[in-house]
Amino acid sequence: MVQVHIARSGVQLGKYPEADIPVLIGAGTVRRTDHYWKKGMAYWLVIGRTYDPPAAAPPLPAASAKPVPKPMRPLRYECLRCGHKANTVREEKPGNFLMEICTWLANPFVGGLYTITREAGKKALCVNCGSEHMTEEVW
Ligand SMILES: [Zn+2]
Repeated sequence: MVQVHIARSGVQLGKYPEADIPVLIGAGTVRRTDHYWKKGMAYWLVIGRTYDPPAAAPPLPAASAKPVPKPMRPLRYECLRCGHKANTVREEKPGNFLMEICTWLANPFVGGLYTITREAGKKALCVNCGSEHMTEEVW
């Protein structure tokens, strides 16, 4: 390892491994105004910027941008009475399920009609206030 002799004001301070000089400069142990000499040099020279500490590493590129959160599924329904917004509504069909089953058992044709009638009369009710005045607007 190359040893570098350091001198200040004509007085030798000591010799240090060449690789350590930038660190010593950074620590203030060795000054840029000091002189240095190493084997093979004809003269002592001012350290100056010869052993500048390496420039700080440039900042790493920012980590990949945060994934954009998916927008929430828009709320589909809004109650015109209480303003409640929701994706679900309380469904209410006319008639009743038991009656539907009985009709089916008695006569599948009538049962089918009954089912169709119930589906056709299905109402969307507000889950909050029970109002049937719901929009079906997609927001
Ligand atoms: Zn409501």
